[in-house]
Amino acid sequence: MKIKSPEGKNRILLYGLGVTGKAILSTFPKAGWQVTLYNDQEVKLDDLVKEGLDPSKVDLAKDLDSIPWSDLAYVVKAPVIPLDKPLLERAREEGLPVCSDIELAYRLFPDQPMVAITGSNGKTTTTSMVAHILNKSGHPAIACGNIGLAVFEALDRADPDTWLVIESSSFQLASVDRFKPRFAAILNVTPDHIDWHRDFAHYAACKFNISKGQGPEDILYLNPHDRPSKEAFESGRFKAQVKWIDPEGEWAREIREPGFWTLVGSHNVDNALFAAGLCHDIGLDWPIIKKALQSFRAIEHRMEVVDTIDGVTYINDSKATNVDSAVQAIHSLQAPLIVIAGGYDKHVPFDEFYEAFRPQGKAMILMGQTRDSLKQGMEERGMGDRVVMVDSLKEAINRAHDLAQAGDVVLLSPASASWGMYNNFEERGREFKDLVKNLKK
Ligand code: ADP
Repeated sequence: MKIKSPEGKNRILLYGLGVTGKAILSTFPKAGWQVTLYNDQEVKLDDLVKEGLDPSKVDLAKDLDSIPWSDLAYVVKAPVIPLDKPLLERAREEGLPVCSDIELAYRLFPDQPMVAITGSNGKTTTTSMVAHILNKSGHPAIACGNIGLAVFEALDRADPDTWLVIESSSFQLASVDRFKPRFAAILNVTPDHIDWHRDFAHYAACKFNISKGQGPEDILYLNPHDRPSKEAFESGRFKAQVKWIDPEGEWAREIREPGFWTLVGSHNVDNALFAAGLCHDIGLDWPIIKKALQSFRAIEHRMEVVDTIDGVTYINDSKATNVDSAVQAIHSLQAPLIVIAGGYDKHVPFDEFYEAFRPQGKAMILMGQTRDSLKQGMEERGMGDRVVMVDSLKEAINRAHDLAQAGDVVLLSPASASWGMYNNFEERGREFKDLVKNLKK
């Protein structure tokens, strides 16, 4: 990969060392750039060399004064690093652009075709759908960004005409300015990550940033049922050409036909409409899009049917790390439900979760940091008798197994992040699946 420097300098400061940071360390030095790395926790160069890095192109900054500020073209930060860190304030004082990796990717590769997708829920699914449809129809595409493959790793593999389909998180979008995807989508904006953003207004503003650099020649898809998106549109926030998905239209009707595909839930119809709209504007016809959608399979940990044991179906929706995704999960199932919920506390209200649960919820099995506040919420709404408190997922499954009758669904849809009990939602989902397999034995 060649990385030209429009600013005439070829050194960047990398702040943080996660998936994004590692991708930058594995691509920029190869392209002849110097990387100064700063990390809040100590990093040893030796460890990086073991991972195949060229040490002559990387230097570690111990403190802010040892950073060669005047040599830097950009400061690029790991998404999760809060915006008020002293290093970032200093960078701004030095007049340097503080970029997320997607901003930097646009600045350095402005001609690469890009589709960017954000939203509180459905990003990974929709991003995967778009990449799947494009690839199936002979347009090379790579799903990247927040999905686990960093944009610079994708760029390293991409040809100049390969579409980058970028799942964009609110953390990444907090540090964009010129980012200008040809096509973008905001799926929905519901409360999430308020601990990081401090308030909903900032969170929503970051989501809308996906369109910040777009102009009338670019396209932005919105959801007519999403109030924050509608309000932002009505206030004249977007310069792009805005298009709306049509959940009542002909495409939606066809996707809803029984047997269309193996996915569960009406939220996936919305996701498909976004993917279809974007691909249609890229130049594909509906019959081609439709055929590709039919061969799309659910992604692990998102309404993933694990097994049916004694007539009870077990569904792994561990990726439901916020309230809206768990609400959608419940709404998409008709059977009596035993819901396993609770986890890390992101300080968001759970009201909609209780009300979604009320009509068909038989039992709510609660674990993790949020279990006490969830229990209290259930009691305040007269559903205290449906609450079961547990200390582990294992105990949760055993209790669910005891309570369930044929025809019920046991749904892991925690409405909370997994931290505190697990490193990530994948670990939680895998444990759930293992425990379900053990039940069978
Ligand atoms: P994200 O990448 O935005 O977290 P995913 O596609 O991984 O989105 O799905 C996350 C969770 O949200 C899953 O539990 C899934 O079932 C649910 N979900 C998917 N699409 C939507 C949607 N459009 N609206 C609400 N919830 C959704």
